[in-house]
Amino acid sequence: MQNKVILISIDGMRPDGLQQCGNPYVETLKKEAAYTFAAQTVFPSITLPCHMSLFYSLPPMRHGVVSNTFVPQVHQVMGLFEKLRSYGSVNAFFYGWEPIRDVAPPTTCKFATHINAYMDESVDTLLTDEAVKTIRERKPDFVFLYQVETDEKGGHDAGWMSEEYLHRISLAIDNARRVIEEFGDEYTVIITADHGGHERMHGTDLPEDMTIPMFFRGPQFEAGRELENVSILDITPTVAAIMGVEPEREWEGRALC
Ligand SMILES: [Zn+2]
Repeated sequence: MQNKVILISIDGMRPDGLQQCGNPYVETLKKEAAYTFAAQTVFPSITLPCHMSLFYSLPPMRHGVVSNTFVPQVHQVMGLFEKLRSYGSVNAFFYGWEPIRDVAPPTTCKFATHINAYMDESVDTLLTDEAVKTIRERKPDFVFLYQVETDEKGGHDAGWMSEEYLHRISLAIDNARRVIEEFGDEYTVIITADHGGHERMHGTDLPEDMTIPMFFRGPQFEAGRELENVSILDITPTVAAIMGVEPEREWEGRALC
């Protein structure tokens, strides 16, 4: 592939949570990446619908997944994993919450690792260890590293913007830092969230649920530049542009580079 990409999704991470989490690496990211603290996700602001929109560049109305229960698309549009695979991309996927596996249809990933977040206290760190090992040894073209504990153990268990939630964001940013420090010269790294949250929930169209941060770190992006009018639908066209892949006509987002 033309260029390689690592995409990290930190579940339920609000921009103000990221800015208040106390991890000094956030300032480094702002200097080294193009970024926004005002990107918009889709409604309903729920994990599987939002990730389907991320990977298919379509709103939930069009991909048809409106809850955390997967339903196959009526009108088939190729998503990022299939599209990359059709160009010969070697894809890798690391996740701690099982329902998210449906963003990558069968046969599109060479490497896929699931560790059950309900059965482990530090699944995001373990998955990052696995991702680092695979990237180091196998150099896949596209990597999707999903971090779930910010949402489950931070937001839902302790409350959005609670101490525990901010702590979980800081841990996820440490994981992102490990990936960037080792592979940031070889890979363009994109960091996003799927949605925000408020009190102990998300799913509404409130700004706290709908607004997400994003970072794009790589030679295609101007370091330190603040991006405007960014949607979660823009991520898949952007990854395709970076990797030299033609976008699907049906995709509704736009490439940011
Ligand atoms: Zn989520």
